[in-house]
Amino acid sequence: MTSRWRDVAHATGLLADDGTPRATIFAEMSALAVRTGAINLGQGFPDVDGPASVADAARAAIADGANQYPPGPGIPALRHAIADHQRRHYGLVVDPDREVLVTTGATEALAAAVLALVGPADEVLTLEPFYDSYAAVIAMAGATHTTAPLAATPDGFRLDEAALTAAFTDRTRLVLLNTPHNPTGTVLTPDELAVVARLARQHDAIVVTDEVYEHLTFGVPHVPIATLADMAERTLTISSAGKTLSFTGWKVGWVHGPAHLVDAVRTVKQFLTYVSGAPFQPAVAFALGDPGVQAWVDELAASLARRRDLLCDGLTAAGFDVVRPDGTYFVLADASRLGHGDGAALCRDLPSLAGVVGVPVSAFTRAGSSADSALASWVRFTFVKRDEVLHEAVARLQRLA
Ligand code: PMP
Ligand code: GLN
Repeated sequence: MTSRWRDVAHATGLLADDGTPRATIFAEMSALAVRTGAINLGQGFPDVDGPASVADAARAAIADGANQYPPGPGIPALRHAIADHQRRHYGLVVDPDREVLVTTGATEALAAAVLALVGPADEVLTLEPFYDSYAAVIAMAGATHTTAPLAATPDGFRLDEAALTAAFTDRTRLVLLNTPHNPTGTVLTPDELAVVARLARQHDAIVVTDEVYEHLTFGVPHVPIATLADMAERTLTISSAGKTLSFTGWKVGWVHGPAHLVDAVRTVKQFLTYVSGAPFQPAVAFALGDPGVQAWVDELAASLARRRDLLCDGLTAAGFDVVRPDGTYFVLADASRLGHGDGAALCRDLPSLAGVVGVPVSAFTRAGSSADSALASWVRFTFVKRDEVLHEAVARLQRLA
């Protein structure tokens, strides 16, 4: 007998020495911040809520009775708003009735896609470092997780074409891509995406792309891989309202792509949560189509660019080596010049050393991989906090210098 939870705990490095499973690194580090009173630059969530007009729309939806199960694929207004959003921003033509599925956050879309499309004979290829839930759902599907590293270069964390080519095999069924990328903040370039696309076509692999930070880029464009030639037919694109609208607790996500792939995802999804978020779906539908909300999102991205610089400059002054990200909420910082070779140990000590919490990048790598050793001394910090919080964190971090 095998127990899947053991596979999941093992694949995510969340087995304690005595064999009991541990909470995710985000939960562990947020708890550490609460316990010690340290400033939490670990788990990525904003400390200011999203647009009032969108919260009002959710309140109105509750008052208007949007409180029972919504339709399985999501309410029509939201599916139409998602299709319109993809056309307006990227020129993607999406059928709202057959090619869009609303999910419980991007997390459920990712899980349902992986569970629907791969099994024990298959390999799922991700970038490394990777968002933690990828390893977990690949393990739940019983598939094999392979990776291609993003490596620190003077141009940021970049994809290594030779390593990516070598990571593809005849068993690569699915490429689980993520751009803008958590945790590095890399926004993959059209050239990098073209390499992924060429290899996916060559190996007849499906691409599942996680684009939850699509609007949080700083002066570089986000390009969905589905817009590349011949890619829409083999790509499932996933996003979510959480990051775009600063309502991470609402958990309204979606996936779109060819009808036969969306059908497969829906088949699994309907037995995970069935449906969720009845009053939040109309609020997100409103938000995706409202010019005032779009202006709010653009301002969020602009303010994040400023906050990125504030935190990056502070980390550099404190003695870290940082790679300035082009998107997301996150910056990776190398602590080796400060004499800390073990990022996980540093993160445990950081509340007492500096009154700040970060997340070790080892939470996003696989033990023993090349990325794991290259990033052993690196820590992820989030800058999606108010300016005064970041100023205070930066001041505290100078104690390390
Ligand atoms: N993918 C990435 C890369 C993320 O960083 C996150 C979390 N913020 C998610 C997916 C999960 O998104 P959601 O909260 O919509 O489930
Ligand atoms: N996506 C958020 C992060 O990377 C956290 C989500 C979670 O706690 N699972 O920090």
